[in-house]
Amino acid sequence: MKASNTQSFAANALDRAVAGRRLSREQVLALYEIPWPELAAAAHGLRLQQTDPEIATYSIGGNIDYTNVCVVACKFCAFYRAEHQKGAFTLTFDEILGQMDEIRRIGGRDVLIQGGVNPDLPLKWYLELFRLLKAGYPEIHVDALSPEEILGLEKLTGRDAEGLLADLKDAGMDGMPGASAEILVDEVRARTAPTRLTARNWFRISDTALRVGLFNPWVSMVTGFGETPAQRVEHLLALREHQDIALERHGNGFAAFKVWPARLEPTRLNGKAPAAHPDETSREYLRHVAVARLALNNIRNHRAVWRTMGFGVAGAALRAGANDLCGTGSINAITAAMMASGKPFQDPTQLLIQQVEGCISAAGFVPALRDVHYNILSRNGVVGTALHDSPATSGLVAVSGRKNEEANA
Ligand code: SF4
Repeated sequence: MKASNTQSFAANALDRAVAGRRLSREQVLALYEIPWPELAAAAHGLRLQQTDPEIATYSIGGNIDYTNVCVVACKFCAFYRAEHQKGAFTLTFDEILGQMDEIRRIGGRDVLIQGGVNPDLPLKWYLELFRLLKAGYPEIHVDALSPEEILGLEKLTGRDAEGLLADLKDAGMDGMPGASAEILVDEVRARTAPTRLTARNWFRISDTALRVGLFNPWVSMVTGFGETPAQRVEHLLALREHQDIALERHGNGFAAFKVWPARLEPTRLNGKAPAAHPDETSREYLRHVAVARLALNNIRNHRAVWRTMGFGVAGAALRAGANDLCGTGSINAITAAMMASGKPFQDPTQLLIQQVEGCISAAGFVPALRDVHYNILSRNGVVGTALHDSPATSGLVAVSGRKNEEANA
């Protein structure tokens, strides 16, 4: 195609997306060629049409990593350990309940409980845990596990996902996120995590979770494994098709989408995938946020990830298609990171909420506290200040020890 024809094809794709119409594979690919100011403006315009134009939302909650023992051993994962390896852990119920107390103390309304695929933990361990959580913390919504962890339970028990997920739901699990997705193209998965669940199994288990009535708080894309632009588009369009089917069959789909770049330095893939300069990574990240808003016209909420990208880039994402800033999840890891950093602080949660609300205000929106279903709880947030990148918490992204800052497994 001549350059002028390519430009006009891309411009037509952009017009079509802004009008809320479906894009073909070629049209989504063409979006990556649109100059950034036009792409960002189009994605932002669509976001203003699809969600409340005055506010950007966030939530208060926590993440609990219950075990880092895992037999899947993805090459890109710095989180997992073998069973007897130094640093391997599995939390006791008392330790998990202690973290739940902390989430309750900060006013958290949701928790994400994830870990590795640990064959020493039988199904009854999970059932007992969820019963304890439901009995002790009925006000806290429990999102837990991932398609990979459910596949692990299928192998362990010989039962299928439908029965397992129904039992877990009965015990008190409210939702399962679309984690362990990365890029849902088997060529990429085989190269970066040969024993990871296949794309087919990911879709099978995600669909089953929605069918049994579990909530799905988000689905994701993780970039930076050397995947091609066409493979990224294949991932996005597979999610769009899956969302269509889930909404039509079950009236229950992904509540939000988020994207982030993989951090491969501490993993076995370090140096095996093309490394980008941090500025380039930020530019690419923002472009993915914008393209996703335009391509996934059946997923309403798009989240900006400050833990991986920092508040500056996350704020820019709020003006390029995102309408929600990932909130205080990982508060336990962040508190530990703050203590490890030796920086003085009074109340890390309060400081964190100030930063989250400050980032939203600086992007030009009213910070609105929401619940997991995106119902607005407080239209002016809970702090209402515009503190931004305070010395006490800047740099935290670099010191947290989680596998990645957004989700496990
Ligand atoms: S990404 Fe998840 S499944 Fe893969 S090794 Fe890490 S903890 Fe295990």
